[in-house]
Amino acid sequence: MRRKTPTVTVGNVQIGSSHPVVVQSMTNTDTADAEATALQAAQLARAGSELVRVTVNTLAAARAIPEIRQRLDDLGLDVPLVGDFHYNGHQLLRQAPEAASALAKYRINPGNVGAGSQHQKNFQTMIEVAIDQGKPVRIGVNWGSLDSAVLTRLMDANAQRRSPKAAGEVLIDALVTSALESAEAAEAAGLPHDKILLSTKVSSVPELHAVYRQLAASCDYPLHLGLTEAGMGDKGIVASSVALAPLLCEGIGDTIRVSITPEPGSPRRREVEVAQQILQSLGLRQFTPQVTACPGCGRTTSTMFQELAKEITAYLSARMPEWRRDHPGVEQLQVAVMGCVVNGPGESKQAHIGISLPGTGESPRAPVYQDGKLLTTLQGPALVQSFEELLERYVAEHYPG
Ligand code: SF4
Repeated sequence: MRRKTPTVTVGNVQIGSSHPVVVQSMTNTDTADAEATALQAAQLARAGSELVRVTVNTLAAARAIPEIRQRLDDLGLDVPLVGDFHYNGHQLLRQAPEAASALAKYRINPGNVGAGSQHQKNFQTMIEVAIDQGKPVRIGVNWGSLDSAVLTRLMDANAQRRSPKAAGEVLIDALVTSALESAEAAEAAGLPHDKILLSTKVSSVPELHAVYRQLAASCDYPLHLGLTEAGMGDKGIVASSVALAPLLCEGIGDTIRVSITPEPGSPRRREVEVAQQILQSLGLRQFTPQVTACPGCGRTTSTMFQELAKEITAYLSARMPEWRRDHPGVEQLQVAVMGCVVNGPGESKQAHIGISLPGTGESPRAPVYQDGKLLTTLQGPALVQSFEELLERYVAEHYPG
């Protein structure tokens, strides 16, 4: 069950309470290059990113925000833009009020707003802009840039304890304390309670679980969930999945970002696809039809079912833009592509439509099941095309629009 929180409105997106868990992502272009940033933000939005965060690190970047917003609007994309500020956000938000206005949310890292007396002053300035502009903020704590004053204070207090906690526990306390004290300061400055989201990101899975459980138990702010610096390739995807899934299952997490490092030249949208797949695998959101395919084994020596699973997955993906428009609800569709008689008919019957290919020694025929019943049997070189035609017919009949 989802943890109870207020709803925070970010542009046209609502986060928290019983609203669906929101997928977000971040560009990696130079924000000062408005054309390139708008192009990548559009790619992320079209892939399904419901918020797009951009770095705002220089005055040129801040001044590019209105043009990025305009370019997205011109493309018919109303995805909210979030500004990511470190070190000089208090200056940029004042120097470029047009950026403060065009952004839908500000991310503030309390570890990067200055030290000593400047810390409170700079933080307060950013909160004042948020209040003036009516914008929400995410107080985003990261263990790579944790507020050293908070950590030192908690370490000193721990050293005085009769039974001091382990350093790792104090670090988790410090992450949570930094987020909560910053939220308290923001509210004391006048920012409404329902304009605040929190995050406390770390790059270790067990620590992420510990820190978010502690944070979730300590407040009712909506939480932005993500494993920071998850890494590349399979490692990044697996680490993000095992990090986010248990927390999401416990109802912790109102918006997620998957911070995987893309392979050079690969599309940035991968992080959006992974985030969607995590939510869909947990049954929390539905974005696209799912294909259940078996891994294959010694009972099937041909690669036919692997090729069919790949082709059907690609076919569904290619047809989704049109299907999504003309056949609402089609994202619920479950398709099975199975390798032999052992689990093939059973899995195919569980799906809306499924095909069980012949394994080694079986007759070269592939029964197709629809809504749990045998529909037909396919064979021969037109098998793939015939199955795609059956898919089209199923979608037209069951999701008529
Ligand atoms: S369905 Fe058949 S081919 Fe696929 S993994 Fe199971 S036993 Fe092997």
